[in-house]
Amino acid sequence: RKDPRIESAMPPGVKNLIAVAAGKGGVGKSTVAANLAVALAMDGAKVGLMDADIYGPNQPQMMGVGAGYQPEVDKDNKIAPAEAYGVKLMSMGFLMDPDKPVIWRGPMLHGAITQFLKDVKWGELDYLVLDLPPGTGDVQLTLCQTVPMAGAVIVTTPQSIALSDVRKAVAMFKKLNVPILGAIENMSGFVCAHCSKETKIFAEGSAKALETKFGVPLMGTIPLDPKICDGSDTGKPIVVSAPDSIPAKAFRDAARKVAAAVSVRNASSVPLETKLVKA
Ligand code: ADP
Repeated sequence: RKDPRIESAMPPGVKNLIAVAAGKGGVGKSTVAANLAVALAMDGAKVGLMDADIYGPNQPQMMGVGAGYQPEVDKDNKIAPAEAYGVKLMSMGFLMDPDKPVIWRGPMLHGAITQFLKDVKWGELDYLVLDLPPGTGDVQLTLCQTVPMAGAVIVTTPQSIALSDVRKAVAMFKKLNVPILGAIENMSGFVCAHCSKETKIFAEGSAKALETKFGVPLMGTIPLDPKICDGSDTGKPIVVSAPDSIPAKAFRDAARKVAAAVSVRNASSVPLETKLVKA
């Protein structure tokens, strides 16, 4: 049974909301969200990216739009998203003074998040990728309780300590009834800029632990690569700046796995009677 309040908060033309989440900051969640969004668009999907990371809205920089970008607001108070690499982009960063600390309180947060969903002219989208703040705070709760998510992708790093953070994120999504589509392990090895060979740095096995301990399928492993960092700094995600590199290929592959997981979930969540009638 669908709650009408929930349905009304869903942006009208958006088919699937995909949350990109991490148990803690600095694991590359925003980098993964940007590359996933662009990779999905490169495969022909209509994609939006909503930067809901109020504590560090990095998408303007990562997507090369700039935090100073002022989105146009029309007479009906509808906001036009920016566009980069075929992806529609809206960021908390566009609304903030970069030199001032962010002090959002519950109701303000709720207001801003729902406005991003309802009042941004997202248009028709196959996927709206949500770059969530790290951890398990108010924004995650508001979003998951306001709109139905197709699912969440959890970003982690190989150090086993990161797994305790993942455990919290997994528990949160389970409690909120948001399906976990899979995990992406970032910084899982090092690609040498000189010889392009990959070296494992951290102990292997934490990715497998994700599958065995939490039942979360691994969608990809992304190595440490200075080109990824350069891409973030210069506003060109690596899937665009170095499409033939190992990390770019891993991102493209992960994006296809995420899309497939969404399709499988959508197919299986259609009630059997409906399927039979349609067929
Ligand atoms: P988070 O959103 O989890 O806080 P970011 O995506 O902002 O993390 O990444 C933090 C920094 O690490 C950024 O400068 C980014 O370019 C860099 N980074 C992320 N992943 C990689 C990687 N695989 N190789 C090299 N640098 C990376």
